[in-house]
Amino acid sequence: MNNFVVTFQDLSQKSYSSKSSFLDIISDKYKDISDVIAIKVNDSIKDLNSNIFEDAKIELIRIQSHDSHEILLHSTAHLMAQAVKFLFPESKMTIGPPIENGFFYDFDVENPFTENDLENIQKKMIELSNQNYPIKRNVITRNDALKIFKNNNESYKIEILNELPKDQEITTYTQGDFVDLCRGPHLKSTGMIKNFKLLSTSGAYWRGDEKNKMLHRIYGTSFFNKKELKSYLQFIDEAKKRDHRKLGKNLSFFMFDSMSPGSPFFLPSGTIIYRELEKFIRDIYNENNFKEVITPQVFDIELWKKSGHWDLFQEFLYHVKVGEKEYSLKPMNCPGHTIIFSSELRSYRDLPYRIADFGRLHRFEKAGVISGLTRVRSFAQDDAHIFCTSDQIYEEMKVNIGMIKHVFDVFGFDHLKVELSLKPDKALGDPELWDKSEAILRDILTDQKIEFTEEEGEGAFYGPKIDFRVKDALGRYHQLSTIQLDFNLPERFDLKYVAENGEYERPIMIHRAILGSLERFIGVYIEHTGGDLPLWLAPVQAIILPISDKYNDYAYHILKILNKNNLRVKIDNRSEKIGAKIRDAELSKINYMLIVGEKEFEKQEISIRQRFRGNIGEMKLDSLLSKLLDEVNNKRRIEKSQR
Ligand SMILES: [Zn+2]
Ligand SMILES: [Zn+2]
Repeated sequence: MNNFVVTFQDLSQKSYSSKSSFLDIISDKYKDISDVIAIKVNDSIKDLNSNIFEDAKIELIRIQSHDSHEILLHSTAHLMAQAVKFLFPESKMTIGPPIENGFFYDFDVENPFTENDLENIQKKMIELSNQNYPIKRNVITRNDALKIFKNNNESYKIEILNELPKDQEITTYTQGDFVDLCRGPHLKSTGMIKNFKLLSTSGAYWRGDEKNKMLHRIYGTSFFNKKELKSYLQFIDEAKKRDHRKLGKNLSFFMFDSMSPGSPFFLPSGTIIYRELEKFIRDIYNENNFKEVITPQVFDIELWKKSGHWDLFQEFLYHVKVGEKEYSLKPMNCPGHTIIFSSELRSYRDLPYRIADFGRLHRFEKAGVISGLTRVRSFAQDDAHIFCTSDQIYEEMKVNIGMIKHVFDVFGFDHLKVELSLKPDKALGDPELWDKSEAILRDILTDQKIEFTEEEGEGAFYGPKIDFRVKDALGRYHQLSTIQLDFNLPERFDLKYVAENGEYERPIMIHRAILGSLERFIGVYIEHTGGDLPLWLAPVQAIILPISDKYNDYAYHILKILNKNNLRVKIDNRSEKIGAKIRDAELSKINYMLIVGEKEFEKQEISIRQRFRGNIGEMKLDSLLSKLLDEVNNKRRIEKSQR
């Protein structure tokens, strides 16, 4: 029997035999271990039920610890699988990982799970939890594992087993008569899983590949305490209400069709939002001396071979074959822009050379990952490339960061997370240039008083970068903007300029996007605002509601003047009651309702209802006009206090 030395968190040491489980060891050492759910052993997480097998530095994982939630979530996935196997003995298990704040498990079953099935599964899970089965970890041979899963008719588990590396330790976890192939770790027993909820079902292809069989997935969530579960369920409810796929459909912003999966059709209202966003960014380009270009949609694949995208990116390219020649739709603008840069001999006086492109991009995302506007196959970015000298990096960063800050301010993204990603192990380019550039990026963020974290090794292989993530109204972070230095493409495309001393020098290329993909931005922004868009973006900015037909002429007179001033105003001249018209306008989330009846006509005024504020009084047409124009031209936000 071997003895191993355990080093505890207080650095005291004691030796234990290989017969001791970690539970034995910590029971020996600590008085209160009731909230310990697992243990960190030399930086990897183990179950309490597993035995010590080497000298170990150990750390307790208590319920409050950072790593505990994932263990609970995964243990709840097993509990769910146990319930599903009980209720649907013919089902086959595939995989069931924890995800952010939840888990799922995919099953091969004949029919999709129904709402009713979910209820029954949840009930069964409560029973299994009450029975408080110990969750046991078993180290077994590959052959024994194959026997078990053959016997249980779990063909997917056999497929997974056969793919595990030859030298990998095989472990199963059992609770009652349920067994799963799993690396763990797990909780001590099913009784520790108390506050969970099954949320939804969906289809999912085995291994995310549409050529494989369609499986049925159940999503759920689980927490250590009731309160956390409750507030998470409220969050989900709110997120559902704001789901951009739902709102986008209800408000007729966009649609999808199976003739071009993952590629949004923007309807007239959505197109207004799209064009307004472009215009907003274009105005900022003009102020900051960016020149817009339009580049081809289709390129010879030789370009992607030269740029390196062919090796890294091939599966995402849309291939186009014409005769014997192979082309591809562009997945990004960068290589096209290097062609423009090198089309003329440039001198240091031409730098920085800034070009921007709203070109449509195509990437063949897998069917399993495309979702609403947030993961699409066809999109455009507010993409720009800057070719500059290394001495110009600071100024270029300053300009771009200023643009990004301005844009976030307009959209009301007040909380940012900024990451400076530094040199990875495999990096291209001169180490001195890396050091210098990283120092510049660090300086500019500090000078701009932007809080940021440094991420060692997270930079692209071609250069360091700064990523900007914004926090939405539900507290979720989304990465929008990025500024990336690139030492690689200028090398591959042999870009050069004539320096002051008459010698050729290599420029640095900066890739930059503010909104990122416009499609994705619209999705994120719809959820941030719940579809209540500020006036400058709203497809319909105001609707005129005549109280009866008698006032239609007056209504049309107002409409004409507002439309003439480029305001997007409609009229609701249906012979409905005014109450019904107001309700419909509310549902369409229209910012202003302009109500005209006898009183208003006589005084030549308009009664105004503003979204979230209700009645705000009567106005003459010219003061209304200047109020609306002020709100549009200054891109005023819908203030939270109005709600
Ligand atoms: Zn597992
Ligand atoms: Zn680029």
